[in-house]
Amino acid sequence: QARNLQEGQATTSVTENVHKQPFIIGVAGGAASGKTTVCDMIIEQLHDQRVVLVNQDSFYHNLTPEELTRLLSVVEMLRLWKAVDIPKYDFRSYKNNISRRVNPSDVIILEGILIFHDPRVRDLMNMKIFVDTDADVRLARRIRRDTGEKGRDIGMVLDQYSKFVKPAFDDFILPTKKYADIIIPRGGDNHVAIDLIVQHIRTKLGQHDLCKIYPNLYVIHSTFQI
Ligand code: ADP
Repeated sequence: QARNLQEGQATTSVTENVHKQPFIIGVAGGAASGKTTVCDMIIEQLHDQRVVLVNQDSFYHNLTPEELTRLLSVVEMLRLWKAVDIPKYDFRSYKNNISRRVNPSDVIILEGILIFHDPRVRDLMNMKIFVDTDADVRLARRIRRDTGEKGRDIGMVLDQYSKFVKPAFDDFILPTKKYADIIIPRGGDNHVAIDLIVQHIRTKLGQHDLCKIYPNLYVIHSTFQI
């Protein structure tokens, strides 16, 4: 190894591996818990950084292995500092027929009710946030949205909530709360939590883990005991 370094080979592999590492955040929580609101607040406070928001809805509709592979490859590309096309879900046609180009960014936010579901997606995250808003608040927001802007009957909204929304939350979303590094009670109302999260992101962006940026640095350290 010492000879390699003298000949410049190890030094070359160090430079080959140099690329910025984005800080990847996962934001999970029940529907209408305030995930989008929390993400928007983080993005607003990080106005001087390049931040990209990736919504799980662009990939997951049936949680198939193909959908998961697509999400993983998009995040992997962004981690390698490469631009990617992300499908845009069209709620009217229920199809992903449009896409948007996303450039590599300092911060990547992955948001969605089931974003902590798969361990491979979780492992890509540097910080995992669970937005924890009481069920009655989430239900009240759903009733307001569905009876207001969508014009649905309140009986149907309550029926759908008790038959599908609540059991899905209890069985699939709540069990992923244990993976969170940070649990935010009251979502976007919790300004202290948002400030702390933004401070942490800023610290991490300024002080990258050198071993992550230079994967071979550890070898050089151990060989030469610098
Ligand atoms: P999610 O992304 O988890 O589904 P949203 O952030 O879209 O949740 O919030 C759902 C609805 O609740 C939106 O209409 C939003 O404006 C409203 N909302 C979110 N947070 C608050 C809050 N702290 N106070 C009042 N309304 C809120």
